[in-house]
Amino acid sequence: MIVVRTISDYRKNYPSGSIGFVPTMGALHEGHLSLVRESKRENQTTVLSIFVNPTQFGPNEDLTKYPRPFERDTELAQQEGVDILFAPNVDEMYPEDPSTVHVPGVSEYFDGAARPGHFDGVATVVAKLFNIVRPTSAYFGQKDLQQCAVVQKLVNDLNFEIRLKICQTCREKSGLALSSRNQYLSNTEKIVASTIYATLLNAQQRLLRAEPFEGVQAWALSELKTAGFQPEYFELVNRNTMSPISVIDGCSSLIVAAKLGATRLIDNLTVTG
Ligand code: AMP
Repeated sequence: MIVVRTISDYRKNYPSGSIGFVPTMGALHEGHLSLVRESKRENQTTVLSIFVNPTQFGPNEDLTKYPRPFERDTELAQQEGVDILFAPNVDEMYPEDPSTVHVPGVSEYFDGAARPGHFDGVATVVAKLFNIVRPTSAYFGQKDLQQCAVVQKLVNDLNFEIRLKICQTCREKSGLALSSRNQYLSNTEKIVASTIYATLLNAQQRLLRAEPFEGVQAWALSELKTAGFQPEYFELVNRNTMSPISVIDGCSSLIVAAKLGATRLIDNLTVTG
């Protein structure tokens, strides 16, 4: 595996053949590694990026305390068979007063509303990484469903010739979706956190039995509150546009965001499609 720190070094090592790209912020876990495996199955070269992107963090978010276990990440990437690890620093990625990308509509609801500027930061860094890495295919986790919709619209609207592959969410046995931010949870909070997935599963079954969404939503929000969460939203959406719907169709997903102590957790579940 080659570790590359600068854009010019990446250019010098630019691979031939198909390139699969897995963008991450590091603190690698099984979810990230499952994307690497998928990329390795489908491409001649797999590029993993590790970049804690400052522009997608709000002023009161966890940018400084975000975990950065770089040596461990390098070992995991190597063991998994990553060919190129691209880990630039902030100065390499951002000139002064940088241009930014805004993806209208899909980036403005839910996490976009709760975290102003977050998806502009995501869209900008993903566009830059796509232009630097120039992959054939890029691999994203369904765990961040709205991010997938934003990146897909970015690719369509700006004519990136890149195939996106959305990969299944990896979970703990308890059902808790793996996330680098789970490190912030205490052991007791981790047990409580699994209520999110249990609630999603139960709500999915109710919707498939044709229970009206309003009732299911009220039940789910109260279930989360009783477990100790401060829920932010529990919604049924079209997963391509992220617009709320009240009756399930061919691309319906349940999405949820809830705070447990200081930690904000998100998750989602496909209902149909
Ligand atoms: P992050 O490092 O959190 O920015 O995530 C990098 C990529 O890994 C994104 O495409 C995420 O959606 C994906 N990812 C994060 N958690 C999981 C998970 N539990 N299962 C599958 N993919 C994930």
